[in-house]
Amino acid sequence: MAKIYIVPTPIGNLDDITLRAINVLKDVDLILCEDTRRSKKLLVHYEIETPLRSHHKFNEHQEVDIIIEKIKSGTKVALISDAGTPGISDPGYLIVRTCIQNNIEIDCLPGPTAFVPALINSGIPSDKFIFEGFLPLKKGRKTRLEILSREERTMVFYESPHKILKTLNDFLIHFGSNRKVSISRELTKIYEETIRGTIHSVLESLTEKSIKGEIVVIVEGYKLSK
Ligand code: SAM
Repeated sequence: MAKIYIVPTPIGNLDDITLRAINVLKDVDLILCEDTRRSKKLLVHYEIETPLRSHHKFNEHQEVDIIIEKIKSGTKVALISDAGTPGISDPGYLIVRTCIQNNIEIDCLPGPTAFVPALINSGIPSDKFIFEGFLPLKKGRKTRLEILSREERTMVFYESPHKILKTLNDFLIHFGSNRKVSISRELTKIYEETIRGTIHSVLESLTEKSIKGEIVVIVEGYKLSK
């Protein structure tokens, strides 16, 4: 049966890749990736010679039918993203859905994704959580925050360094100052750091220094007794 492989790649430390991921990437005929220059570095590191084809949020709608035809005609294809697991705040959903509609099997390998280590590092309950990814920038942001203000499960957000202060300020307004929060930045990289506290204390400590790198924010859920 025709198949596509969804292959997670490292979120920083190049050692974080599974043996199966390397073998699949060597074995397929074509690797779809977001940024060919970035993925080339990973391929060179692991001596993978498979050709790359660009597949990102700006061309995935035009590309998806071409890819489906390639898979149907016997080309072995894998999808990767710039970092972590495709489909997690990255392209993946569209091609997976279209493959399923075309009776193409999905083989999603387990592997790196930023939110799992951030959630576990946080010390905030990990038994029930919701993944919110990036908050909307403008339209729908306030409504989303209002809905989340009564969310009882731990919440997981992705954020960029230049928006983190605004996001924490919005959390302060909508969730209150005493909720626990944990900020994990540069996971698996040299300057990896996790800052834990209340929304108020973390916001105070961050305004004193400039924050750099990629960030995952974990926020404690709403508690009725508070
Ligand atoms: N597909 C990826 C995954 O599985 O986690 C997520 C891709 S999304 C475009 C990029 C965001 O993921 C960053 O803005 C940041 O919020 C988070 N992220 C990725 N790598 C990270 C790292 N090493 N440390 C902290 N956050 C990271």
